[in-house]
Amino acid sequence: MKLAARVSQVKPSITLTISAKAKAMKADGIDVCSFSAGEPDFDTPDHIKAAVKQALDAGKTKYGPAAGEPLLRQAIAKKLQTENNLPYSAENVIVTNGGKHALYGLMMTLIEPGDEVIIPAPYWLSYPEMVTLAGGTPVFIDATAANHYKITPEQLRNAITEKTKLFVFNSPSNPTGMVYSPAEVAAIAQVLVEKQVLVVADEIYEKILYGTAEHCSIGSVSADIFPLTITCNGFAKAFSMTGWRLGYIAAPLELIKGMTTLQSHSTSNVCTFAQYGAIAALEGGLDCVQAMLTAFRKRREVMLGAVHALPQVSCPTPDGAFYLFVDIQAYGLDSLKFCQRLLHEQQVAAIPGVAFGNDYCIRLSYATDLETIEKGMTRLDKFLQTLSI
Ligand SMILES: *Cc1c(COP(=O)(O)O)cnc(C)c1O
Repeated sequence: MKLAARVSQVKPSITLTISAKAKAMKADGIDVCSFSAGEPDFDTPDHIKAAVKQALDAGKTKYGPAAGEPLLRQAIAKKLQTENNLPYSAENVIVTNGGKHALYGLMMTLIEPGDEVIIPAPYWLSYPEMVTLAGGTPVFIDATAANHYKITPEQLRNAITEKTKLFVFNSPSNPTGMVYSPAEVAAIAQVLVEKQVLVVADEIYEKILYGTAEHCSIGSVSADIFPLTITCNGFAKAFSMTGWRLGYIAAPLELIKGMTTLQSHSTSNVCTFAQYGAIAALEGGLDCVQAMLTAFRKRREVMLGAVHALPQVSCPTPDGAFYLFVDIQAYGLDSLKFCQRLLHEQQVAAIPGVAFGNDYCIRLSYATDLETIEKGMTRLDKFLQTLSI
């Protein structure tokens, strides 16, 4: 069968390939330590589940408005105003099937053939594919380990051309866990204002922060950047709701109208009763998030300690999310080969950095229990000893 060219130009996900292999090994009874998870391992908090049960009993089972339940759009606008200092109103919000589909809808609404979209690398693997699907051209800026995997304002300025339509900004970052400080965010914003370039801020990890790290929404740093900003977020990471498929974008009205038209002919509204879980998440306070953070904090400490004890690897200390991005280039294997052998020889699943645009590193997720972290890191140490440098 001849498929549309649009699909054949997109790469299948390497992440899913490794995860599928690890799952198949587990199903065969093999003791695999998986550091490949891109999602929190906690259950969704009870008060959120209770709200959905109530919504079901109240008959919230019908079609709803394509852009989302009015009550949820209001709750999201209020959250963005109070927590992020972003003056959006409910009509500036569209509820989508996860943060991923929010970004997909955005690219489809905004990007045309010839448009360039600037993406700092390492990047979340779906960004470039979505840009390509929309007919645009991804343009990468290499963020170096020496600069803690953050780009500089100069790098951004140099990458902007007259074709630049959008800049993708993800802090805290997947895969590196790096967090831009408020001053760094302001400096990036200044370049965007100067060049009048739109920015989409993917803030899905905003609540998962360590030490003194602070999340700063780029749209909040000045009155000039706000109209150029598209803010993307969701419920998956902060509230452990990955399977619910609930995300959103807040942006200037014109864009939300365009995205809503597209959504009205594609997915229509997000599952109506699930949206009542999202309202409960926003109105239920952040104690449940704190409880998850306490666990993440401990796991991060243990995994970082183990990584720092490994010979010939390096990893700048991340301030957010639940990943370590570990440089393994001293061992002379490309990242895919490294991860394939690690899985095969020591039954540890990690994601090759090449999936995120950096072939020198691997991504280790600590969204798993401490016992697995300790056992898996001991195995990783053994694996390194078998590789001669
Ligand atoms: C997980 C993730 C998302 C969105 O996830 P959804 O499950 O679609 O809400 C978006 N951006 C990044 C960087 C992520 O890691």
